[in-house]
Amino acid sequence: MKVGLPQALLHYKYYHLWETFFNELGVETVLSPASNKQILNAGVKSAPSEICLPVKIFLGHVKALKDVDKIFVPRVVSVEKGAYTCPKILGLPDIVRGTEGLPPVLAPTIDFTKGKIHFAKAIYNLGAQFSSSPLKIFKAYQAGTKALKRHELKKQEDGLSKTGGLKIGIVSHPYNIYDSFISLDLLKKIKKEDVSIQTSESLDKKIIEDETSSLPKELFWTYEKEVVGTALHWLKTGKVDGIIYLLSFACGPDSLAQVLIEDFAQQYQDVPLMSLVIDEHSAEAGLLTRLEAFLDMIKRRKKIESNHRPDGLSANYARGSVQAA
Ligand code: SF4
Repeated sequence: MKVGLPQALLHYKYYHLWETFFNELGVETVLSPASNKQILNAGVKSAPSEICLPVKIFLGHVKALKDVDKIFVPRVVSVEKGAYTCPKILGLPDIVRGTEGLPPVLAPTIDFTKGKIHFAKAIYNLGAQFSSSPLKIFKAYQAGTKALKRHELKKQEDGLSKTGGLKIGIVSHPYNIYDSFISLDLLKKIKKEDVSIQTSESLDKKIIEDETSSLPKELFWTYEKEVVGTALHWLKTGKVDGIIYLLSFACGPDSLAQVLIEDFAQQYQDVPLMSLVIDEHSAEAGLLTRLEAFLDMIKRRKKIESNHRPDGLSANYARGSVQAA
């Protein structure tokens, strides 16, 4: 039995969990290739034009797995009490089932709003398709959660260990940040500039939770809370020198988050923010120009702030000079 894992969307969050789970049950997993032009074109052909870029890419990945026995597309409704995933993530199994020429879909429903027993049953029913031993299924899931935890801790440590130089925070969904085809290799381009990068993963989940619970109205999309909470924390604390908010075209939740984040950036003016919207037509040259201009602006600002200023003038004197330049 070969189970296909599309290398897109929530793959960038839970891959370690599911790969370990299936392998522990003796199931061979097949990962779709890294995103490329062919995958994007295949996804664009099968998706309605108004759907967001990451879902188009996801459909391209699913099509690249047409030779496996089953494709794993969980219906992730909720991963915490009181909050949900975005409607497109929630409906992914239906979108895939409606696409012609694909193997059957394995689609357990992950819904934490229904409690732990419902979740345990979903995992058991999934595992029972490959093993008749409840103990083996339980142990496979346990091994999966340990693998995921190890991966999350490593990401957090990597982020915290970065010191010195310019610090840029990238706010986005992991599938935008780590899919180098979607992001037009943004991480590599930033690293070339000798800049250290921070993401939501380097922040304690409690910090993000505290930031979003201070909002007048609580957000009910889990992954959008991560985006907004991270941006708000960095804007308030100034722990990064600048923030890049990477969002994909036609993302409904991000269009709301963008308004919130840009509004906060007006209130906490110490940390510059640049929003970058990407779609299937985005070009590398345009991205590079904006990135270079943003980093140059931050470097100049830091230089001015670190220079000696006439007595009696505040740091805002320097900031004003940069804005006017
Ligand atoms: S959160 Fe936005 S980008 Fe992600 S799947 Fe939903 S609509 Fe698409």
